[in-house]
Amino acid sequence: MPAATDPPGAAPYADPVVAALDELRREAEACERCLLADTRTRVVFGEGDPHADLMFIGEAPGYHEDQQGRPFVGQAGKLLEQLLGTIGLTREQVYIANVLKSRPPNNRDPKPDEIEACEPFLLRQIELIAPRVICTLGNFSTKLLSGSQTGITRVHGIPQRKTIAGRELYLYPIFHPAAALYTPAMLATLKEDVLRLPEVLRLPLSGDEPSTDDAAAADATAGRRSSSDEGADDGSPAAPSHETAAPPPFVAPESGPAEQLGLF
Ligand code: URA
Repeated sequence: MPAATDPPGAAPYADPVVAALDELRREAEACERCLLADTRTRVVFGEGDPHADLMFIGEAPGYHEDQQGRPFVGQAGKLLEQLLGTIGLTREQVYIANVLKSRPPNNRDPKPDEIEACEPFLLRQIELIAPRVICTLGNFSTKLLSGSQTGITRVHGIPQRKTIAGRELYLYPIFHPAAALYTPAMLATLKEDVLRLPEVLRLPLSGDEPSTDDAAAADATAGRRSSSDEGADDGSPAAPSHETAAPPPFVAPESGPAEQLGLF
C-alpha cells in the first residue's frame, strides 16, 4: 500500500494512524471488489477513536447505516450505546466497524465471497488501531476472527487470546445487539457479558509494561487455567489477594477451538 498522503488543501496529518485510516477509508469508498458496490448508497468504513483499546465488530451495515455512512446508527446502535454506558464508555471512546463495509440488499446475510473481498479492510483496521480487545458482535465477525465455526451461543463471554493482523489481543465474542433487541434472555446475557468488559480490558498482553495490576491479573488468570493451557508461570511475585474482587474471566488459549477444552 502506498504511503499515506495528506488530502489536498488539508492540514498535514499529525497522527500516522489517522492518516493511514483515512487512506484506507478512501480505498474502501472506491472499492468494487464485490457486487455490493452496485447496490450500496454509502460505504460504512467504521468510526471512533483510532487508538481505542476496545474495538467492536458487527456484521454489515443496515438501512440507516447505508444512508448515513456510519456504523450502528439504528436501533441496534442505540442499544450498543446504552450497553457502553453501563461500563462508563461512549461510542467516541471505542472503535466500531463491521465485517462488510457495504449493505447487503434487504439486510440478507453476508455471502462468503463478500466477506473474503472485504476482509483485508478489516484486518488493516485492526493492524492500525491495535486494540487490546476486539468484541465481536454475533456470529459473522466471531467466526471470521476466531477462525472457528463454533457459534456465538457457545463462545460468548469467553475471552480468547489471539494474534490477528499481527496484533496480540483478546477476542471477546458477545451476542449481536440486533438479535438481543427481540430476545429478552439474550439481552440479559449480553448485558452480563458487557459488564465483564472492563476485566477483559485489564487482562495482560505480552507487550505490556510490567505493573502491579498486570502481575495480579496474570497470576489470577494463571490460577484459573487448566494444566493443559499454554502460558507458564513467569516467575513474577505472588499477587496480593483481592478478597472482594470478582474472579477474572476464564481465557481460552490461543491454539485450538474452545470445544477442545471439553467445556461444551
Ligand atoms: N448491524 C451491524 O452488524 N452493523 C451495523 O452497523 C448496524 C447493524
